[in-house]
Amino acid sequence: MSIAADKVVSIEYTLTDDDGEVLDTSVGDEPLIYLHGAENIVDGLEKALEGRNAGDEVVVVVEPEDGYGEYLAELVSTVERDAFVGIDELEVGMEFEAEAPDGDSQIVVVRAVDGDEVTIDANHPLAGQRLHFAVKVIDIRDATADELEHGHPHGDDDHEH
Ligand code: ZN
Repeated sequence: MSIAADKVVSIEYTLTDDDGEVLDTSVGDEPLIYLHGAENIVDGLEKALEGRNAGDEVVVVVEPEDGYGEYLAELVSTVERDAFVGIDELEVGMEFEAEAPDGDSQIVVVRAVDGDEVTIDANHPLAGQRLHFAVKVIDIRDATADELEHGHPHGDDDHEH
């Protein structure tokens, strides 16, 4: 069985940046399980895995446009300190869930605090970065009807939505 749309795929992966620094890895942990063709993983990696088989090792470099997007200056904005209701200590690096213009929720990071003005950044933490993936395909199986309906794989454990 090869990787194609509607397959549930288990992979072991290590993600590094241009300098070879490890940003994320599944090695030593459970494999990452995703539903192929459902945008569970970044576009560039999904494309590179298409047609691969269990046991294959894949090394791929994903440009920002096929990864987490370019870094967009317009996603950095300044808001009033009052917007952070109930937060006593506001520090650089803090992450908050905010409503995006399209109504979805997004994570914003505090970049600067200057008196009553707070600079927030809604870019993905890996936006603008070239992603280096080293992947080993562990397992491939057909997705169940439930998984296809939900757009993501289900593990052995019951899960709630
Ligand atoms: Zn589900």
